[in-house]
Amino acid sequence: MRIKDESIELMLTDPMWTALKKLENLINYRGYEVIITSGSEKDPIHKPDSKHYFGDAVDIRSRNIPSHALKIIQHDVGTLLPNFSFLIETDHIHFQRNY
Ligand SMILES: [Zn+2]
Repeated sequence: MRIKDESIELMLTDPMWTALKKLENLINYRGYEVIITSGSEKDPIHKPDSKHYFGDAVDIRSRNIPSHALKIIQHDVGTLLPNFSFLIETDHIHFQRNY
């Protein structure tokens, strides 16, 4: 797992860390690298109620993962991490804990 740069903060909840490790395993297993592009940093780039601010969401770079692989990984997440969402946005993946 790589972090985009030092502006990224990862003050994540324990369940989020556990899920992120599992997600990393899934993505690595499919042959791709996880690059975190946003975490819990306070810069107001997300919606005010975003789970990013609660340490329950990260954004992951998607341009290094082909769309067919993203679909497979999304399906894996649906099966193996039912309390989490893997949302394929236009220029990134938003991964969050649902509650
Ligand atoms: Zn996000």
